[in-house]
Amino acid sequence: MAVVPHTTGSAVEILPEDAHNARLLAQAHPSDWRNPVPRNPYNLVVIGAGPAGLIAAAGAAGLGARVALVERHLMGGDCLNYGCVPSKALLRCATAWADVRDASRYGVHYHGDLQVDFGAIMERLRRLRADLSANDAVQRFTALGVDVFLGHGRFAGPRALDVEGQTLTFARAVVATGSHAGVPPIPGLAESGYLTNESIFALTERPQRLGVIGGGPIGCELAQAFQRLGAQVTLLEADAHLLPREDAEAAAIVHQALGRDGVQMTVGAKIAEVARRGALKIVRYTDAAGQPGEAVVDTLLVATGRVPNVEGVGLEEAGVTYDRRLGVQVDARLRTTNPRIFAAGDVCSRYQFTHAADALARLVLANALFMGRQKASALTIPWCTYTDPQIAHVGLTAAQAEAAGLTVTTFVQPLHDVDRAVLDGETEGFAKVHVKRGTGTIVGATIVARHAGEMIGLYTTLMTHKLGLGALTQVIQPYPTQAEAVRKTGDAYQRTRLTPFVKKLMSRWFAWQRGR
Ligand SMILES: Cc1cc2nc3c(=O)[nH]c(=O)nc-3n(C[C@H](O)[C@H](O)[C@H](O)COP(=O)(O)OP(=O)(O)OC[C@H]3O[C@@H](n4cnc5c(N)ncnc54)[C@H](O)[C@@H]3O)c2cc1C
Repeated sequence: MAVVPHTTGSAVEILPEDAHNARLLAQAHPSDWRNPVPRNPYNLVVIGAGPAGLIAAAGAAGLGARVALVERHLMGGDCLNYGCVPSKALLRCATAWADVRDASRYGVHYHGDLQVDFGAIMERLRRLRADLSANDAVQRFTALGVDVFLGHGRFAGPRALDVEGQTLTFARAVVATGSHAGVPPIPGLAESGYLTNESIFALTERPQRLGVIGGGPIGCELAQAFQRLGAQVTLLEADAHLLPREDAEAAAIVHQALGRDGVQMTVGAKIAEVARRGALKIVRYTDAAGQPGEAVVDTLLVATGRVPNVEGVGLEEAGVTYDRRLGVQVDARLRTTNPRIFAAGDVCSRYQFTHAADALARLVLANALFMGRQKASALTIPWCTYTDPQIAHVGLTAAQAEAAGLTVTTFVQPLHDVDRAVLDGETEGFAKVHVKRGTGTIVGATIVARHAGEMIGLYTTLMTHKLGLGALTQVIQPYPTQAEAVRKTGDAYQRTRLTPFVKKLMSRWFAWQRGR
């Protein structure tokens, strides 16, 4: 491939500088990378190499299209570098700690000193992230036939994108620029200093006292992990309960679990200001009852939601309409207001998850390259918050169903009636499913369980294939598994189908049989 004598990547750094991060950089943004000479025009130009952009680029190249992929920072986007991957690596260590802490419940007593080596935990995180970066590497995508351009992409017109002094022209483009942490305008916050998901995984020393602003999925997962790993965590959430998007009963269980771990939580918190006292940060707030409170911490994490990356992309020049808060405006088929340009992932979706970015990118491929007519609204997208226990969800909650004018019947299977959960000592939680009243049509489901994320797929499969809840009774689950909780909600539904009329018929049948 022809190259231009232009080196990119020198400005990119990821802290701390060590062998693992050097390996990550060598794959995700090699400093000696030279952008190729554009092979204009491209069938597809993709801006952003997070999950959405990578899937779009690899898929299109695999089909034989001429593809350019533009990334200004690190291949892999938030998921690999500052999101799912490092957070789940950290959570695993926190779970290991909790398992040892709780081992005596199982008759396993440990009399040594339970110590957390925070430096080793963070090194493991960096090592595993570097290992996984091979999947998203510049070299891998180049081998797939994608022209990778490292640098900031900016539309120069409706069919052209500038990157590092070169212009790429295209028949179709995908905006997959993702999102970044939103930071609320709290007086004193900027001056006091804070971390976001882009800086917290660079820590090498454990904070003694960590303040977390925001009790959504990221805030809750990291609050629990840091508390378990030995920091004293204070979590402040503005809403009336943690995880405001979740079923309230499910969120209450996670609230209790975090409380048991020692996280100090205030819901309904209004933060007035953050002040600095020496190395400490003082967060002043009022609670739901209007009572003033103060959290004194040495480190502050802001996790108050995500903001789509729409600035500086030249969307105006391309005729792509967007909203600073809601992101790129797309129609049902993910086409923007420029019919040649599509969008996928966090930049245009309220489902800000890696698997959603992946699914939307696949849909864009069909619609952008092959005049497909697939609709994003037809997708069934589950999600999971990986606290311990986890909350996994798909579809609507009962409250959302009601707001949408749907009358539902709800079946709940508590885990304390599921053999495997009893044997595992993990009885906290439930499987809850809502069906349209009088039918088996599932409108939504929530599972709270230690491995809820592994279980929600059963409901998701039924919803995706428009199978009713009764179909579960035909699925044989291995015994004993916690997934039996899901099957049992199917049994509960099936029992409701035994109407008085059917019961009467049955009793006649049995009477006849006895008399033969
Ligand atoms: C702490 C944390 C934990 C998470 N955990 C999970 C989880 O467990 N499961 C899950 O499903 N999701 C999780 N997520 C969400 C997940 O990371 C995102 O939904 C996913 O990364 C979105 O993918 P994307 O491709 O849309 O955007 P991104 O991953 O944000 O990638 C966008 C890319 O575009 C690049 N870019 C932006 N503008 C330009 C430009 N002008 N030119 C060139 N490049 C540009 C960016 O540098 C970035 O690399 C988590 C997120 C965070 C922050």
